[in-house]
Amino acid sequence: MLAEIRGLNEECGVFGIWGHEKAAEITYYGLHALQHRGQEGAGVVTTDGNTLKLHKKQGLVNDVFKNVDFSTLRGHAAIGHVRYATQGERSIDNVQPLLFRSQKGSMALAHNGNIMNAYSLRGELESAGSILQTSSDTEVLAHLIKRSEKNNIEVALKDALKRLVGAYAFILLDEHKMYVALDPRGLRPLSIGRLGSAYVVASETCAFDIIGATYEREVYPGELITISEQGMDTTRFAELEQRNLCAMEYVYFSRPDSDLNHVNVHASRKKMGIELAKEAPVNADIVTGVPDSSISAAIGYAEQSGIPYEIGLIKNRYTGRTFIQPSQELREQGVKMKLSPVRGIVEGKRVIMIDDSIVRGTTSRRIVRMLKDAGAKEVHVRIASPAIQNPCFYGIDMSTKQELIAANHSIDEICALVGADSVAYLSASGLEHAIVKEESMNQGVCMACMTGKYPVTEKDQTEIAYTRC
Ligand code: AMP
Ligand code: SF4
Repeated sequence: MLAEIRGLNEECGVFGIWGHEKAAEITYYGLHALQHRGQEGAGVVTTDGNTLKLHKKQGLVNDVFKNVDFSTLRGHAAIGHVRYATQGERSIDNVQPLLFRSQKGSMALAHNGNIMNAYSLRGELESAGSILQTSSDTEVLAHLIKRSEKNNIEVALKDALKRLVGAYAFILLDEHKMYVALDPRGLRPLSIGRLGSAYVVASETCAFDIIGATYEREVYPGELITISEQGMDTTRFAELEQRNLCAMEYVYFSRPDSDLNHVNVHASRKKMGIELAKEAPVNADIVTGVPDSSISAAIGYAEQSGIPYEIGLIKNRYTGRTFIQPSQELREQGVKMKLSPVRGIVEGKRVIMIDDSIVRGTTSRRIVRMLKDAGAKEVHVRIASPAIQNPCFYGIDMSTKQELIAANHSIDEICALVGADSVAYLSASGLEHAIVKEESMNQGVCMACMTGKYPVTEKDQTEIAYTRC
């Protein structure tokens, strides 16, 4: 069953602000800080207490907001979204926030994650007469709320959230209130901060830093927060469970300056490198990291091993992330455009090349070849996370099982395929040790793509179908 499931989905970033006269502008800055989470499209919805106003477009945040007259988006509250999409899903309809207008009132939604039972819920909603406008699983939540018999939106929202299976960080906005919800296992990151008297919510705390907001706390798994003129109110729609925040957020997705669930991303990556050096030492002349996401782990590896850290690879800042390229051929081209070796540093050297993860193996193969072409005597690949052998069902584009190199090959085969002199991965316990500071703080992590232990049950996995942010 797992092998049949199509490469699902996307990380995305969400942002919200309540109680600020420049809500739309601040959302623009917040989305800027979250740009690494999605480059396909971005948008904002504001409320002035009477009307919701939307602006969204495909493209990078700067382009999306280039000619926007922010006075047309006036309001004291806003939500925003940056979208990451896999191939074949590039449509303005799926760019968020999604805005629904009805006689009962309007509602906008921004979502990061993946609702695993969206397919069966869509079937149920369509049978009951709902007409869904997008192929996005996010829309399901809006329809569940709208179809509710309950007049109280919070009650309707809680009922709807209880029906969802999967990973989700939601921010909803109607004319009068903002609602924030995190799935019962807290798979996706979501934090709350303050900007003066205003409340801010974001996928990553780096969005708080850019706007000068202070971090307040995490949104708890299974929590529904309502923010309005009356202030912030909190309730639960699910029992508090062990948190299972996505380990790949620490390994690759999040920005190093973000703190996720009280753990700084750079610090955790550095520890991954330290653990990796303990677990998989090798004689070499220099340690180098694949920019940007592997630099912290490379620093940790060098520190622990005593082998000097060097900049052996340079990143061209003006190309997008490799995965954005839709085909394998273009992806490979993308890697070439993105990185260059520093010949003067690697020539004649035994190089330890640290990368954060291997998914298909394209990146490692290209980089090993690049380093060898530049004269490296040996290239030892050290990966700062365990082998990815299982697809992700929780909102991360992790491809099919067939495409995951480690699902189909032994370490020796991977070593031969990427052309390295040796390959080693960090163990699952090493990764956990690098992330979890204190069990008492509910800092459990999901490592299902590496360990196969999915925090949402096997039965739920069979429900997967429609998968968008
Ligand atoms: P690959 O060439 O498929 O092995 O890609 C691996 C590289 O892509 C890693 O070095 C990461 O930096 C990055 N990466 C890992 N997971 C993902 C993902 N789900 N989406 C996009 N990029 C990823
Ligand atoms: Fe993250 Fe992997 Fe878990 Fe998906 S399966 S949420 S990528 S750790």
